[in-house]
Amino acid sequence: KMLPADVSEVNIPRQVVNAGFSFVNPKKTKAAEWVHKNSVLMNELGIDFKSDQEALQILSGNKSFSDFKSYAMCYGGHQFGHWAGQLGDGRAINIAEIDLNNQNWKLQLKGAGPTPYSRTADGLAVLRSSIREYLCSEAMFHLNVPTTRALSIVKTGNMVTRDMLYDGNPKEEIGAVVSRMAPSFIRFGNFEIFAAREDLENLRHLADYTIKSHFTNIKTTGKEKYLAFFSQVASKTKEMMLHWQRVGFVHGVMNTDNMSILGLTIDYGPYGWLENYDPGWTPNTTDRQHKRYRFGNQPNIALWNLTRLANALYPLVNEVDPLEKILLEFRDEFQIEYTQMMLEKLGLYQMNEVDENFVPDLNALMEKSSLDFTIFFREFSTIKELNFELYWESIVKSSYLEENELVKQSKAWQKWLDKYFLCLKNESIAIVKRQKNMQAINPKYVLRNYMAQIAIDAAEENDYSVLNELFELLKNPYEEQPEMKKWYSKRPEWANHKVGCAMLSCSS
Ligand code: AMP
Ligand code: MG
Ligand code: MG
Repeated sequence: KMLPADVSEVNIPRQVVNAGFSFVNPKKTKAAEWVHKNSVLMNELGIDFKSDQEALQILSGNKSFSDFKSYAMCYGGHQFGHWAGQLGDGRAINIAEIDLNNQNWKLQLKGAGPTPYSRTADGLAVLRSSIREYLCSEAMFHLNVPTTRALSIVKTGNMVTRDMLYDGNPKEEIGAVVSRMAPSFIRFGNFEIFAAREDLENLRHLADYTIKSHFTNIKTTGKEKYLAFFSQVASKTKEMMLHWQRVGFVHGVMNTDNMSILGLTIDYGPYGWLENYDPGWTPNTTDRQHKRYRFGNQPNIALWNLTRLANALYPLVNEVDPLEKILLEFRDEFQIEYTQMMLEKLGLYQMNEVDENFVPDLNALMEKSSLDFTIFFREFSTIKELNFELYWESIVKSSYLEENELVKQSKAWQKWLDKYFLCLKNESIAIVKRQKNMQAINPKYVLRNYMAQIAIDAAEENDYSVLNELFELLKNPYEEQPEMKKWYSKRPEWANHKVGCAMLSCSS
């Protein structure tokens, strides 16, 4: 055992001390039914479920693998900037470990009933949020963004009561369970809880276990080992931030309990995708006032969260300076790599030719012109001549403004495009190659909230056709897929004010 397990097995909400996890069995469901299976991933993993029925029973929590004792993990976290104490897997249960290609995967059920960490909630999940997690984690994987994976959605046959916050009226919703996988679901909060409880022994156990299992390239010992570990976590977190900013993903709830130690995107709740470029945008209604987790603030929050992790690891290092140095490196490197990433989105590789205002100016213009983040970059990747008219056309195509409004910015665009053309002329790369490169990092298809909502509305009426279609579409987000081009379009007018499209809450 990596940590002394909680022996009581009593499945009631409580403070679980001196332990990293608790054994707990999933709740039996009334009538399990498939909603979607990720067959490709299932085959890859080669899990021997024996039969389809058996798979359904296991992935809904009705049956367990005979050789595995399922458990929920104990963690704490800073929520919206404040220490929240013990949180833990309130509705996630680890039901298996699977070895694949030298990688050990943890398999979790989300929404399979209460655990000691459920606090005042029910441990369940609804179909709506399960579809959102399922589609988005697979979409992110195919976008090459580090993420947890999703294996299946089942309906439980039970109804679940949810307060949607908007009208204050609780609603009966369809219950569901998602199965998801990752090499590890350990979060910053797993370290924070031990540090907060001054449980140094378990803090060290957890750090040693994590390093031994997931940071096998670390060969140093003592405090150097923990510093190397922290440095690598910071670096993985930075990579994840660069990817989120590249594809226009807004997580929505970047609390430290939702920060994976492996830099994986984890816990898909009220996330959203940038449509009209707005660094101040967050889809999470719970965060409307402060917009702490707005698109443009995500890298800062990652740094803030890393600072919380540094504090938690401090007792293992007992020195402030080297931890601080790693945090400063994160800040400086992110800035440089962000600029580089944005230039690559534009097909520019000769960084020294570009002045420091070039990217900020573009961001300001995209915001002012209300450009669809995805469509704008994708359209740019298709233009073959350095011709203002052609570029202007794609700006018009991606703008949410009326053309007579947009025209007011044409001069400013002209000025920026002149600089861009100069940069492009300095590039030695062949145009065909440049376009190919650009299209490999500027997706054509992302999971806009309105798309997920259409799939949800249909699925709630037992029609899974849209869910299936989006699942297939998002397997190849960088491909043209001309027969699917209806999904390559700006957010429709009806989605501007609809719950689930323009606004989402943590309630799931
Ligand atoms: P989240 O905001 O989804 O990251 O959740 C924060 C904490 O609340 C985590 O500890 C979750 O496990 C817990 N939680 C969220 N929803 C539920 C639920 N329906 N039942 C039990 N715990 C929950
Ligand atoms: Mg969470
Ligand atoms: Mg959640």
